[in-house]
Amino acid sequence: MKIKQFNLLLVFTLLLCFSTIFNAKPNQPQKKKSVLLVYGGYDGHKPGEFKDLFLPWLQDQGFDVVVSNSLEIYADKEKMQNFDLILQSYTMGTLTKEESDGLMAAVENGSGIAGPHGGLGDSFRGNTSYLFMVGGQFVSHPGGQIEHKINITNHDDPITKGLSDFSITTEQYYMLVDPGVEVLATTTFSGEYAPWIEGVVMPVVWKKMFGKGKVFYISIGHSVDNFEIKEVMEMMQRGILWAIRD
Ligand SMILES: [Zn+2]
Repeated sequence: MKIKQFNLLLVFTLLLCFSTIFNAKPNQPQKKKSVLLVYGGYDGHKPGEFKDLFLPWLQDQGFDVVVSNSLEIYADKEKMQNFDLILQSYTMGTLTKEESDGLMAAVENGSGIAGPHGGLGDSFRGNTSYLFMVGGQFVSHPGGQIEHKINITNHDDPITKGLSDFSITTEQYYMLVDPGVEVLATTTFSGEYAPWIEGVVMPVVWKKMFGKGKVFYISIGHSVDNFEIKEVMEMMQRGILWAIRD
């Protein structure tokens, strides 16, 4: 073999070795995202059925899921920092100061939070820090279970993209809403059960930030059969996936 050819071969071999070394990635499995599913509170919303519906789906997504039917876990600041998402269905109830601080710190530091109906939008009524985080509070559902229309108002957002307006028979939530939320879907009150609110356009689905944490809310979800409507389930699932820490 001529020297020149030998040198070329040597250079080529060395290059191959280096590229193999530098391209080799340690075989690190990606850390699974961790979700805290908290359910409870007012029994009329059957929070256990919500948990039974969404727990298998969360596990199918490959998340590590911790389930709690008590609010006490919110007081464990250290544990709370490890969750990438909190999915909450806990209507009414109250938080102790430690529970409130733990929950708020987790979201402010980047854990997402998502939930439906009274499970997120009618929890811990007297806690203004919590209301500031969620961006709204239920106040009434005139007429109770009534048929009404949901209008998808944002057709570009990944949570509502491709979805069409639909009708549903359930509680039409009248809420006090933070003007800072990003509204994705609305409903309009007919005034039949409270004439003075005729024509009021009310947010139904919104997203927002709280510190580094993403907040997703949908006011539909009085009972689990609401999620049999394809659009409702899509928005809930996409909202959860959006809210989870990146
Ligand atoms: Zn309800």
